[in-house]
Amino acid sequence: MTPIRRQYLEIKKRYPHALVFFRLGDFYETFDDDARVVSRELEIALTSKPMGKNLRVPLAGFPYHSLDTHLSRLLGRGYKVAVCEQTEDPKAAKGLVAREVVRLVTPGTVSDGPLLAAAANNYLVALASGQGSGWGLAYADVTTGEYAACELEESELVAELARLRPAEVLIAEGVARPAESLLYTPLPVQEFDGELAARAITEHFGILSLAGFGCADLPLAATAAGVLLTYIRENQKGALGLVQPLHVYSLDSSLALDSSALRNLDVLNRHDGGPTLVSVLDRTRTKMGGRTLRAWLTRPLLDVAAIERRLDRVQALHDDAALRSALQDHLRRLPDIERAAIRCTAGSAGPRELGALRDGLPLLPAIHRLLAPDVSLVELASELQTHDELAAVLAAGLADEVPPALEQGNVIRAGFSADLDNLREVARDARRLLGELETEAKGESGIRSLKLGYNRVFGYYLEVSTANAALVPESWQRRQTLTGGERYITPALKELEERILSAGERIEALERDLFRGLQATVAAHAPALLATARTLAELDVHAALAEVALERNYCRPLVDDSRGLEIHEGRHPVVEAALDERFVGNDLALDCDEQQIMVLTGPNMAGKSTYLRQAALIVIMAQAGSFVPATSARIGVVDRVHARVGTQDDLAAGQSTFMVEMVETAAILNQATARSLLVFDEIGRGTSTYDGISVARAVVEHLHGHAGRPRTLFATHYHELTELAGALPRVRNYHVAVSEDGDDVVFLHRILPGRADRSYGIHVARLAGLPDSLLRRARDILAELEDGRRRNGQNGHAAQLPLLAEPPALLAELAATDIDQLSPLEALLRLNQLRERARAAVED
Ligand code: ATP
Repeated sequence: MTPIRRQYLEIKKRYPHALVFFRLGDFYETFDDDARVVSRELEIALTSKPMGKNLRVPLAGFPYHSLDTHLSRLLGRGYKVAVCEQTEDPKAAKGLVAREVVRLVTPGTVSDGPLLAAAANNYLVALASGQGSGWGLAYADVTTGEYAACELEESELVAELARLRPAEVLIAEGVARPAESLLYTPLPVQEFDGELAARAITEHFGILSLAGFGCADLPLAATAAGVLLTYIRENQKGALGLVQPLHVYSLDSSLALDSSALRNLDVLNRHDGGPTLVSVLDRTRTKMGGRTLRAWLTRPLLDVAAIERRLDRVQALHDDAALRSALQDHLRRLPDIERAAIRCTAGSAGPRELGALRDGLPLLPAIHRLLAPDVSLVELASELQTHDELAAVLAAGLADEVPPALEQGNVIRAGFSADLDNLREVARDARRLLGELETEAKGESGIRSLKLGYNRVFGYYLEVSTANAALVPESWQRRQTLTGGERYITPALKELEERILSAGERIEALERDLFRGLQATVAAHAPALLATARTLAELDVHAALAEVALERNYCRPLVDDSRGLEIHEGRHPVVEAALDERFVGNDLALDCDEQQIMVLTGPNMAGKSTYLRQAALIVIMAQAGSFVPATSARIGVVDRVHARVGTQDDLAAGQSTFMVEMVETAAILNQATARSLLVFDEIGRGTSTYDGISVARAVVEHLHGHAGRPRTLFATHYHELTELAGALPRVRNYHVAVSEDGDDVVFLHRILPGRADRSYGIHVARLAGLPDSLLRRARDILAELEDGRRRNGQNGHAAQLPLLAEPPALLAELAATDIDQLSPLEALLRLNQLRERARAAVED
């Protein structure tokens, strides 16, 4: 085995789960199984290399400068990569060049390159499981420094993961994974030791106890946070300096959207890539704003005052369009201050990033001036620092046009460093002398066609064609013979070359130092810059929301602590934006006393789902601080939105459609509170009709009897459920209107009180293009069924559907009894009354 092979195996042993990119000169090479993977995934030829006596190993490699492209491709497919560099100068090395893995790049810890979506966060998550159903969750984005942790229940975990959409999840080996389809990195259980983890945090931040971060009593959150920190430290040494102080949060402080709500309401993304709430509202001009908008929409507020504050700002920018467009014009020219600051802290910012910062910071005073006069915006103005000092340093230090890479030179502005200016003068002077030397050489030799040239191997030379070789003076030394000519050097040329090269080297080194100095200055301002970035991000979101509101005719919602929900002419923000024709607005009124549950029936394709979802979206938008698509809206703060929508298989998790439906329903019923908004679009469709109706009806009854009386919207094709309105006082029927013209059905999309009598399913089937003969047969079957049902009805509906017999009047009355309103004596009397009637019923 060659020494290199031995060195490689030694290193590979420590990174069994990663692909090792092994630096050999100008190439990164991979060997053995790694080479097979790399060759397959990157479509690089698989070759082999002799690495010992009778030993050839599989090999796949690529030139060092294409590292980023290959890295991001592999990360995108869920691989981890250990980048092993030569850690000493090969020229200076005696024997084998030292090599070391300098970073382990994983999907959750990449800090640059095309893999990062600028407008979305790239979260690394750590999960710590407790004894019972509790979990600790910590997340960090190494590109923005965000670092947060919380404790939560197993039932909340999946939703939180859906909100964060992590690139990578750290979890202890052997612990059951809460959601499939995420990229997990299992770590040894010992790393999840509470004390060890706490020490990682206290040591990193130089604090004595976790109390300062508010997680002294949250051991699981602290464990997850510590594991995360250790992982970043071990894999991305450079990224550690940038992690912000730990933010401990609680799920109770914001509107909870369960994962099915996030998915079903198309808040962030859609499986088909179609428009979403974010895509309709995202008129942000900065990347920071884009990320903040996503955070706001997935985590709307509960605090009315805080919501009002956001709405005030949106209103100010809505009412003053000139102010808004002036602000947005400035925002548009700002760089990603957050990521730039963080990359300076990590020492990995490039010249272009500092250049963008230099160009962006001078816009801040103007933004400040625009904000200051407005009462609603003045607070933002006061939070906005202008960073004049830093801006001045960058302006003085950086050249007007900076190249993408530091090595390209001319990054530092003339006049910033006397030493650098001198060196550059020396280099310039030497180049001038070089020109003179060429002229002199021509004179001396009389060869007019003589050319001065340079190459990496021989340095500067004088080139003479073969025909003129005889004229070359004795003192010139021949260095190279070409087909058509000869190349010579002279002592004077060598000396100049020496001066130029050494000046060049020193210029490069000095520029690097000066640039690092600038980077360090930015890093020193990083906390203040991050605060500024946050303020700008908020401003950007406010302006974006104001812009959409004006353009799409949204109204400012009234958010209060009531338990009502009243929407006039509400529209679905996403459907409306995608629709060519006019969207028909609809009213909605829900409260906990009169109209708690709305049972919505109507034909297929009439707009039931749309109506249900728009109610939930309007609530989410309002509590995020946005205007809403309606003519007016009054929203009693909602603490959770649950949306059980449609049917979806989770076959991968081994669950059938109906099972998924029931699991989601159970979660909703268990978690609903007096402030929740529940949206059920079809329940019980994945099973037999009677089973389905039974479950659906029982769910409505359960919610009607629920102590908190959560506001509920319930769409169904089970027309039998409309009978509940007669039995349960807080259940109301609504339907979607259609107009019939012979065989044609026109969808009016208008929601009206009362129940629908038909589903027009066959009509929709015709629109979808089912064959005529099939449709005729379906109509016959329907007629037969309806006929049979009518005849059966003579024996009473009960014979067919026992469950829907007599509305349970006694139960309904009991359910409707408001015990808060009864005196003890009245209660006793009412109880007696009910008992008498119950006895009578039993004897019957
Ligand atoms: P199904 O019972 O078959 O699930 P549905 O009643 O839930 O149907 P939706 O999916 O809500 O029907 O709506 C069907 C289509 O009708 C929507 O995609 C949209 O294009 C249009 N639509 C719905 N509501 C409206 C409206 N208020 N104004 C205009 N068009 C609408």
